[in-house]
Amino acid sequence: MTHTKRDSIEDRLEQAAGLCLRDGGRLTDIRRQVLALVLRSGEPIGAYALLDRLKADKANATPATIYRALEFLQTHGLIHKLERLNAFIGCADVSDHHHHHAVQFLICRTCGSVAEMEDSGIAGAVETAAERTGFRPARATVEVEGTCAECAATG
Ligand SMILES: [Zn+2]
Ligand SMILES: [Zn+2]
Repeated sequence: MTHTKRDSIEDRLEQAAGLCLRDGGRLTDIRRQVLALVLRSGEPIGAYALLDRLKADKANATPATIYRALEFLQTHGLIHKLERLNAFIGCADVSDHHHHHAVQFLICRTCGSVAEMEDSGIAGAVETAAERTGFRPARATVEVEGTCAECAATG
């Protein structure tokens, strides 16, 4: 059986709805729509770009509509915010889901691609270093800028 891109987004939305339910949350229509827009974008997308796209369907959507939906999706680990880009991407691994996971992002300066990694060694090192100062870390997102393998290969 072959899957087109659209199918896999539908699959991810179904999976997301299931996860929210298990968490006692509900993937309402608007949240589902915002998640779909983030996933379809294929690259990091900002809140206002999302609002523009949402308005095509829901003319009365406001920035608050978007921010509330994004907040929910972040809380449930379905999307991540890239602080450096002030943009959002879908979590690369919703299937093996755990909350507040410590993730690292590799951001290519040349093509703009973003890869999500989850290296427990890095997360552990950050946590240990923080705790040594008496700090209690809740979330540790590391954003690394550079050149992706493909761009490095082409020059
Ligand atoms: Zn993730
Ligand atoms: Zn690149």
